Amino acid sequence: MKKYLRELPAIHLIQKDLRFITLRRKKRITLQKLTEWAQYEINSIREAIIDGKWQDGILSKEDFENYIFKKLEQKSDTFHQNNLRRVINATGTILHTNLGRARLSEEAIKQVVLTARNYSNLEYEIAKGIRGSRHKIIESILTAITGAEAAMVVNNNAAAVYLILRTLAKEQEVIVSRGELVEIGGSFRISSIMEESGAKLKEVGTTNKTHLFDYEQAINEETSILMKVHTSNFKTIGFTQSVETEKLVKLAKQHDQLLVYEDLGSGALYHFEIGNEPVVSEVLKKGVDIVSFSGDKLLGGPQAGIIVGKRELIEKLKNHQMARVLRVDKMTLAALEATIKGYIQGESEQIPTIRDILLPLSEIRKRINIFIDGISQNKDNWKMVINEGTSQLGGGTMPGVEIPTLVVAVSHDQLSSQQIFDRLRLGSPAIVTRLKNDQVLIDLRTVTEEEIPFLINAILHI
Ligand SMILES: *Cc1c(COP(=O)(O)O)cnc(C)c1O
Repeated sequence: MKKYLRELPAIHLIQKDLRFITLRRKKRITLQKLTEWAQYEINSIREAIIDGKWQDGILSKEDFENYIFKKLEQKSDTFHQNNLRRVINATGTILHTNLGRARLSEEAIKQVVLTARNYSNLEYEIAKGIRGSRHKIIESILTAITGAEAAMVVNNNAAAVYLILRTLAKEQEVIVSRGELVEIGGSFRISSIMEESGAKLKEVGTTNKTHLFDYEQAINEETSILMKVHTSNFKTIGFTQSVETEKLVKLAKQHDQLLVYEDLGSGALYHFEIGNEPVVSEVLKKGVDIVSFSGDKLLGGPQAGIIVGKRELIEKLKNHQMARVLRVDKMTLAALEATIKGYIQGESEQIPTIRDILLPLSEIRKRINIFIDGISQNKDNWKMVINEGTSQLGGGTMPGVEIPTLVVAVSHDQLSSQQIFDRLRLGSPAIVTRLKNDQVLIDLRTVTEEEIPFLINAILHI
């Protein structure tokens, strides 16, 4: 053992090695950092030798050096790779929660960059030369598109739920149907958020049936809100009954100070050809006092929670201390304003989420042809089969809705589906595909034409 330890290179010799110098220069790593990594590798080898766990075959001075430099090379590469990085989404799931939900429109990206690079009037009224409010940046455009009296934006829709209940129902009762208490991805439960707000949750009805009289019977002098949650994350199929918004509004009117709040989750700004997500302006027309929805679901904008409704209520929310805690950044406002302007100008097909949802099969077929043509030079080992399939919206939006698509089932004569799936994922950029029934499926609905070469390249280099 001692003999091997003696062969371990000293740090000052590693530092003098040409490979060390080249790494420093080529990968732009500081002397201190690279020395630290080299020392760490030397120490790890020493410990492994002493513990008798060192790998066979690497025992000479030269072997040790080669091993250390291989490690340093790998470390330098990962050091420059950002933790948050680009992924090619070949799953066809448009609002993939794990992959960052909505992609922004070019106009939104332009505004984000402009706002990031320069000073802006975030809290400054240019016309008057006085301090302004960031709420003003986005309010008029939101009221214009939804017909609401007033509007504001917070960090996300979960924050919107929290702020609304905290401000308008703290220590009071909020009546909500059991069938609507949804769990959304990860560990987010709407009921937990409600409890955190300090509002007392009063669940009525059963998971599949809630009637108007369930709400009626639950109302007392402590009740402040009748809440409706749009159950977008799952679909109760079959024998179900929920109470329509109009009826809740009518019931609330019979009581003093009773509000109706609808958490739409996704919230469409216009009617869609597919699915039947409620349209925000229509929900407001029914007389609902306050509505909240996400900025990065169906809307196709940045992560945000949008709150619209009666002016008096929105003013209360804006003035609550928690509004400061939950407020959004200027880049979010820049992206949101540009996205909503896209709708107002009738250019919603420029918004990637909308474009991808409405993408015709002919366009998907065109992408498939480009993709398969690119592989053909090496098609001996690969097999590509085009099948009919379905794309999902994702993000808990329109759960029952499946959009017809075409998928490419990719297989190789020497690799298992799992191996193909893993190698595509571990490449650069990472490519996420669907692994279903031991088949790798590629849905090009969510892969732009510019991204197809990455896919071809990745497959040719597996
Ligand atoms: C998605 C969703 C939320 C949470 O919205 P985020 O923007 O993800 O915070 C809350 N309520 C409902 C009904 C939802 O669908």
